Amino acid sequence: MLLRHSTRGGGCEPGYHRLVPIYEFRCEACGERFEVLADLGTEAVECRACGAPGARRVLSAQAAPLTHVHSPGATRKQEARNAELRRRTKAEFKAARKRVRPAWGGERG
Ligand SMILES: [Zn+2]
Repeated sequence: MLLRHSTRGGGCEPGYHRLVPIYEFRCEACGERFEVLADLGTEAVECRACGAPGARRVLSAQAAPLTHVHSPGATRKQEARNAELRRRTKAEFKAARKRVRPAWGGERG
């Protein structure tokens, strides 16, 4: 059977959740975490679990780093660090491999 939209989960949720951002809120009273369709800029809502008005918006960790890294100097520094780390990890990997297999001598430069 072909259904155009699934109505799993129940409730009357039309397709408008694409237009309204979903925010995560955490209630300070009971610790409940829940997602709410809220208008932009909504900082606090009523707790879904206990009804306390103090549920605060949890800042999404995904959105944060973008504002962080925009200086090219910092990016280059980070890249150099990554390269160094990669080099070290590789060396350690090689050493570990050697320890496990002493006969393995096929090292290529
Ligand atoms: Zn609560």
